[in-house]
This record gives sequence, C-alpha cells and structure tokens, in this order.
Amino acid sequence: GSFSSLGLSEPLVKAVAEQQYTKPYPIQQEAIPPILRGKDILGIAKTGSGKTASFVLPILELFHRTKSVSSRYASVLVLVPTRELAGQVADVFQELGAHLFPKVKTVAVYGGVSINPQMQAVHGADIIVATPGRLLDLIGQHALRLSDVEILVLDEADKMLELGFADEMDKLFGLLPKKRQTILFSATLGDAIQDINATLLHNPVKIEV
Ligand code: AMP
Repeated sequence: GSFSSLGLSEPLVKAVAEQQYTKPYPIQQEAIPPILRGKDILGIAKTGSGKTASFVLPILELFHRTKSVSSRYASVLVLVPTRELAGQVADVFQELGAHLFPKVKTVAVYGGVSINPQMQAVHGADIIVATPGRLLDLIGQHALRLSDVEILVLDEADKMLELGFADEMDKLFGLLPKKRQTILFSATLGDAIQDINATLLHNPVKIEV
C-alpha cells in the first residue's frame, strides 16, 4: 500500500515523502482509513510504531477536505502526558501539515513554564496539543474553550493515568462536546483504560500492533 491509497491527498503525500516515509507502517495502514471515515479508535501501540503519524495524517487530511478552519476555537484536542511529548506531537503536525492551505495552526501547551505566552499562543489555534493540568489552567483563565472540539486524541493514555492526571482528565472530558470523534492510544490495556474506552469511545475500531 501507499499513503495515497489510504486516502491522503497530494499536500500530505508530499510531506510524508519529505520526511522520508517511503511506505505506511502497519499502524498507519490500519488507523488512517477508519479515522477518515469518522470512526473512534482504540489503539494499543508503543512509541516507535509510528502511532503519531497514524492520527496526525488523517486529522490533517480532514482539514484539507473541509478547506476551512472556520471554528472560533480549536476543533482538535490532543492530550498527552508530558511536555516533551506535547512538543514532539505538535512538531509532527507542523511538519506533515507544511503544504496545507489554508495553514493549520497547531500549538503545544504544557506546565512547568510561564502561562502568559501560552495564553496568547492558543488564540486562533486549530489544534491544541496539551498536558491536562496546564490545559485546565488555560481554560480557567478564559484563554480558550473546548466547545468546538470535534476530534479528541488521548495519546499515551496509560502514562497520563500513571502520572496522576485522572482527575484533570475527567474534568476535561466534562467540558468537551458529546458529539465528537475520539482516538485513544495506549501502550497497555488495563482496567482504567478499559473504563475510559467504555465511557468515552463509541463502537471503536480496535488496533493492536
Ligand atoms: P512514533 O511511534 O510516532 O513515535 O514514530 C516513531 C518514528 O518513526 C518517528 O521518528 C517517525 O518519524 C518515524 N516514522 C513514522 N512513520 C513512518 C513511516 N511510514 N516510514 C518511516 N518512518 C516513519
């Protein structure tokens, strides 16, 4: 298979070539078509599998197809456990989205640094990549709202729980629109992840690599 046979358009095919991705990894073959169809995803995958591009590419393709980034607030929220992962995932959105027009604005927000620059940066963002605590702080400061989120991604969900973010995650889930697409990636499938699956995902496509 090729990236274009998975349903990706020219600006994204061009970007993957520039990143020297010659062909899709198995997780990308399995995840990209159902995400483009609007399905929820339960993915059991570790770092190194290519999981990041498996959600970044179809999300960017959906922006390309609608040709509009008209929402007032971000339409995609990616929750991650750490500052490092927030930066990495936002970088992948930027690299793989390099040829999209109109441009898709991605912003990473995370704790451990001053909140003020992030309050400015989230303005007009289409995609927010965030650690849970800092995202709640930004919402509390009225820097952004989650009312326009259409796609929620939980990346390394088991690690988010391990790091003690369960309460923050629950608060955030309560602020999200009920009608949305949800994509969950976790390295393991324990009871807590099963609970999140049962409460947040609707008839998910299950992917294990
Ligand atoms: P991840 O599991 O998302 O952390 O990705 C692991 C590494 O694989 C990253 O350095 C990606 O740039 C790289 N990668 C992802 N997809 C592909 C692909 N289809 N071909 C080659 N490299 C890839």
